[in-house]
Amino acid sequence: MEKISPTERFLRYVKINTQSDENSATSPSTAKQHDLAKVLTAELKEMGAKEITYDKKHCYVYATIPATPGYEKAPTLGLIAHMDTSPAVTGAGVKPRLIRKYDGKDIVLNKKKQIVMKVEEFPELAELKGESLIVTDGTTLLGADDKAGVAEIMTMAAFLIKYPEIGHGKIRIGFTPDEEIGRGPDYFDVKLFGADYAYTVDGGALGELEYENFNAAGAKLIVNGRNTHPGSAKGKMINSILIAQEFQGMLPVFENPIYTEGYEGFYHLDGISGNVEHTICEYIIRDHDRKLFEKKKQFFAECAEFLNKKYGEDVVVTEIKDSYYNMREVIEPNLHLVETAKTSMEELGIVPKVVPIRGGTDGARLSFLGLPCPNLCTGGANYHSRFEYVHVQGMEKTAELLVRIVEAYAKREKT
Ligand SMILES: [Zn+2]
Repeated sequence: MEKISPTERFLRYVKINTQSDENSATSPSTAKQHDLAKVLTAELKEMGAKEITYDKKHCYVYATIPATPGYEKAPTLGLIAHMDTSPAVTGAGVKPRLIRKYDGKDIVLNKKKQIVMKVEEFPELAELKGESLIVTDGTTLLGADDKAGVAEIMTMAAFLIKYPEIGHGKIRIGFTPDEEIGRGPDYFDVKLFGADYAYTVDGGALGELEYENFNAAGAKLIVNGRNTHPGSAKGKMINSILIAQEFQGMLPVFENPIYTEGYEGFYHLDGISGNVEHTICEYIIRDHDRKLFEKKKQFFAECAEFLNKKYGEDVVVTEIKDSYYNMREVIEPNLHLVETAKTSMEELGIVPKVVPIRGGTDGARLSFLGLPCPNLCTGGANYHSRFEYVHVQGMEKTAELLVRIVEAYAKREKT
């Protein structure tokens, strides 16, 4: 068997600009995402994948690698990556540069513009000494997020078709648009996809494995004040700005993004606008633990109640709306997804790093749509940045990992 390498595909895909746009109301948010969807559809056809569906309206690509003989009864495993890149940094004119045998020193990305990626600022670079990296010219993002995932899945697919002696059940492949603007699952056809379980391949450094994300809510605080002439305000004026300030002061000081990490949740005041008469505060509430999450929301409402007792009914109004939930709830009954990924990593000499996501993912939404979906590494780093790079051997190992996971699932019964 030849060595599995997604590099050539990766270098081609990153040159196709697929930036999504959060200010667009259409779906996909940008037409250029079709440019990659078309390429992938053609390549899937050429390699001999089956049941290829290109949703030309919403820009989703689905395909099948049929089960090898004897494994038709194995569960159908899905592998998903997103085609768009972040709107945060331009994705036009990406000029990927391959660095073979990286010397572990600062990397000059752009000599003319004096753009340097320093080990001091990105200390994890030191661990990659002797490995190969693909970097940008310092003026664009790279698009490893998530074209590394796309290239790895495509490479695995071609590999499985080329070597039918690798036994596996039915594999479903899915490429989505608009993940970066939180709309990836909007038109994802879970039924058509028809997988029993899936993985998104959209993580970072080799070994990363994620199946926990925040429970999330948006919470609005509306304070209705009463303005009067400040000269005759005594006993009459209700200054909504000061009450909003008082409310913020009641929230636990250390349950704030600037003091939390790992599994610690928070209240985050994200925006405020107001005057004496009327103040609106926009909060987000986050916690991995569902009970603590519910408690946080309850406490938020209780603080408002307290202020209403103090200042009068309906001076303070809260609106709390859940945004998404921790996928752990859905993954827990399917913990084999995590176990299989971990074991497969260990067999390949990859050290698994299970990290809780301090945010949400498309996989979380897909999990609650009935498709349990943890997230695997890609080998990329410094996402949404001009300093984004990908670890070439990390991509190769991830593609190997996908093959290994697929083989492991061939031996499982459908549950
Ligand atoms: Zn991504």
